[in-house]
Amino acid sequence: MKKLTFYIVLLHGLFLGMGTACAQSLETKAKENLVTSPQTTLPSSQLWIINQNKQVQKQPFMWVVPEPKKARQQPLLQLAQTANKPAKKTGFSTKPSKTDDLEPFDDVVKDSQKLEGLFTLYRQKETNKIYLEIKPEQLQKNFLATATLESGIGERGIYSGLPLQDFLFYFQRIDKNLQFVVRNVNFRTREGDPQTRSLNRSFSDSVLYNLPIKSIHPQRQTILIDLGDLLLTDLAGLSASLELAASPDQPYFGNAKVFPNNLEIESIFNFANSAGDSQNPSLNTLADSRGFTIRLHYSLSQLPKNNYQPRLADERVGYFLTAYQDLSINDRNDLFVRYINRWNLEKQDPNAAISPPKKPIVFWIDNAVPFEYRDAIKEGVLMWNQAFLKAGFKDAIEVKQMPNNATWDAADIRYNTIRWINTVDGYFALGPSRVNPLNGEILDADILVDASFVRALKNEYRQIVLPNQTKTPTSLSALMQNRPLCSKGDKNPKGLMGNISKLAGEYDLCYGIESANQFAFGSLAMSMLSNTTPSKEQVQDYIHQYLRLIIAHEVGHTLGLRHNFRGSNLLQPEEMNNLEITRTKGLTASVMDYVPPNIAPRGTVQGDYFPSQVGSYDVWAIQYGYTPSGAKSAIAEKPFLAEIAKQSEKPELSYSPDEDTSEIDPTSAPWDNSGNVLIYSRWQLDNSRVMWKSLNHAYSMSGENYSDLSEQFSTIFGNYLQQLNYTIKYIGGQSFYRVNPGENKGRLPFVAVPVEQQRQALATLQEYVFAEDAMNFSPELLNKLAPSRWRHWGSTPKTGRLDYPIHDLVLFVQSAVLSDLLSSDRLSRMKDIELKSEPGKALTMPELFTTLQTGIWTEVLQPKGKLEISSLRRGLQRQYVNFLTAMVLRKVDVPEDARTLSWYKLKQLDQQLRRVKSDDEYTKAHLLETRDRIEKTLNAPLQGN
Ligand SMILES: [Zn+2]
Repeated sequence: MKKLTFYIVLLHGLFLGMGTACAQSLETKAKENLVTSPQTTLPSSQLWIINQNKQVQKQPFMWVVPEPKKARQQPLLQLAQTANKPAKKTGFSTKPSKTDDLEPFDDVVKDSQKLEGLFTLYRQKETNKIYLEIKPEQLQKNFLATATLESGIGERGIYSGLPLQDFLFYFQRIDKNLQFVVRNVNFRTREGDPQTRSLNRSFSDSVLYNLPIKSIHPQRQTILIDLGDLLLTDLAGLSASLELAASPDQPYFGNAKVFPNNLEIESIFNFANSAGDSQNPSLNTLADSRGFTIRLHYSLSQLPKNNYQPRLADERVGYFLTAYQDLSINDRNDLFVRYINRWNLEKQDPNAAISPPKKPIVFWIDNAVPFEYRDAIKEGVLMWNQAFLKAGFKDAIEVKQMPNNATWDAADIRYNTIRWINTVDGYFALGPSRVNPLNGEILDADILVDASFVRALKNEYRQIVLPNQTKTPTSLSALMQNRPLCSKGDKNPKGLMGNISKLAGEYDLCYGIESANQFAFGSLAMSMLSNTTPSKEQVQDYIHQYLRLIIAHEVGHTLGLRHNFRGSNLLQPEEMNNLEITRTKGLTASVMDYVPPNIAPRGTVQGDYFPSQVGSYDVWAIQYGYTPSGAKSAIAEKPFLAEIAKQSEKPELSYSPDEDTSEIDPTSAPWDNSGNVLIYSRWQLDNSRVMWKSLNHAYSMSGENYSDLSEQFSTIFGNYLQQLNYTIKYIGGQSFYRVNPGENKGRLPFVAVPVEQQRQALATLQEYVFAEDAMNFSPELLNKLAPSRWRHWGSTPKTGRLDYPIHDLVLFVQSAVLSDLLSSDRLSRMKDIELKSEPGKALTMPELFTTLQTGIWTEVLQPKGKLEISSLRRGLQRQYVNFLTAMVLRKVDVPEDARTLSWYKLKQLDQQLRRVKSDDEYTKAHLLETRDRIEKTLNAPLQGN
């Protein structure tokens, strides 16, 4: 083969910097000069090379991934080595290559069972071989492959039903090999009509496997490959995901079924986990962690042949997206085309205002779901029909019960299921769906619910991060941010846990551990806030409401919807326990929020704990995604969609997804509640106090374990922290709204929190965190907080100090709140908001500092009688001086104005400290030492930046 000097770049432009003009001129030149390049079944992607004669020449190439485990990394570019060969030999579309060295077809498949469908399978049970027969017309055609973890081990992310990989792939023949190629759909070009999807011109596909062709049928010209070469390898990247020093040993096929449009196959892997490997802590649930078996379910299916019309997205309505770059768009900055993910719903009667769909979306309830939960699940799914009605569909969704003797698997791509799984460390629900990556059509959905969710009434898993020594205070918001999403608490979740975390992070699919915490808190509140123990029916009803909401939320995801953390803002706190309102208007604007149990304040009759219907936002979002527009193309639908989307400025339709919650915005957060979080959170802080009190009394009578009491104490504490966190968000906060300047004239993207509310929030923090009696526990209760002493698998008793470190805990909360209030981020935002508000309408930094100093040093600033400062207050005061000192000494990076204010406040404090005296020795020492520290700080040699 001639040596070629080449580089130049891909025609369809992975390296967009090369510019289209350059490529086009090359193309023209090539046409003039060039030998026809081999137009065969090689990928249509080509690059330009300069050959020895300095001529530009078109050359096919392919992406090669030498190690399938690393398939997600940059593949290698390999020139197809056939450049100088005559086209005939490479292309299947011409004559087949010599088949001399291939075995005769009938010999290969002899003694096998033939299964006909989308592909024909030949299964030889004795040798554990399955051969796959591919028709010539199936080459180069798109198919969808999905891999699902069919059986798990119930811990560390190895959970049954977990989706692993989806590929859009095609088979392509190169000589004696059949390549399994994953289609790259991220870049596309148009041909003719802008709506035409130019599938064939996508580029940089990844060749994942080169499979040797076993035989070619002499008449049919069909190709036979050994399916084990594809599916008994690690196509799904399982070994890498498990991160076990383990390798599958003798994998084999389980069930294999073929249908006209799909192929369902199970691959079974035995993993040997090398014992004693320190990187792989033993797996608790296994009888012996040195070995375990995992079943993978593969679906290979045909993309539906229908006239599905993709729908363009709008950032004001929260859908999952299928986005690609349209390289034909030259005149705009934004090359992206974004489609929403949705089902293909068509009206039976297109002219009727409301019509049943031609094909409803059917969900099957797994036959493993306990009987007592099936009704709640069914109701949760069917809730959405109310929304579809507004989009013109009657009974768009149906629920069916998977019979006990069903012969199909839940992972079968033809069935949407709600699966019930058991884990020891999961606590999650997931609502993933399988989507056609070309146009966003949702093809299949399988919801997973971990049974431990509803068992979390007694929740041993929950742990708030208890303080060790609070040398570097964590800010409360940083602490709480780890809590909402599943597994996020673990900074670097590994293996499949990482996979769940990824699903949760990228696709916000997951109801995590925090949901279990909320559930536990609600059930605890139910029994502690009323004076009577709830009846069995009341408890069942609570679980029913909760499970129904979780299912509705996950079904929402499978309909294409993302989270909306403004969903809980619909009602004012005082409306939330009024059934007349909540059962008509709904309790929330969206079930796509993380909704905590609605807990009534003392003295109010408890209403519904959880929403019983989808909300106004949900209905509107479904209208956007599913109402038939009558337009003939995605572009032509735009005015129709804009008409719907522009309503987004209505408060009950406001959308705020995961990525928007990092703003200091009190209106958008997971697990907050009501249209006035400030008041609602205050109610819950009061509820927590009441519950702590009754915890002490309740347990003097009941026969339960003291360790249960400790856990309940912590559950309440977790709730207390959470409410404080929502309150802090008011200070220096602002709301961010997704609005369109042309269509939403009534609202700007940023709106600062009104100054009165900021002041109220500061007052709440003073009362519930800084005040002397903010966290006032009786000595008796503190002496009851004993840890669990069970020692067996799944339960390791705590060693070392066994009682509750109450000083540390209180100081930890105080520090966390202070750290948040005086964070550089908040202070610089406050400064900016002053400029963005009318005079007098912003909370200024001096006001913040003065309010804190007055509240924290009250004993000294407003002395009353004998001066004696309690231990909890002394800790807080020290911490406060620490924060200010750090600013003055430039140990933290804060706005310069905040530094000078700290200096000024310390100076003031110093003067006031000189005026007071105490006889209490603790207090005396505290005051003197503080003065000494302040003076040293103020006199410290100036340190430059
Ligand atoms: Zn979710």
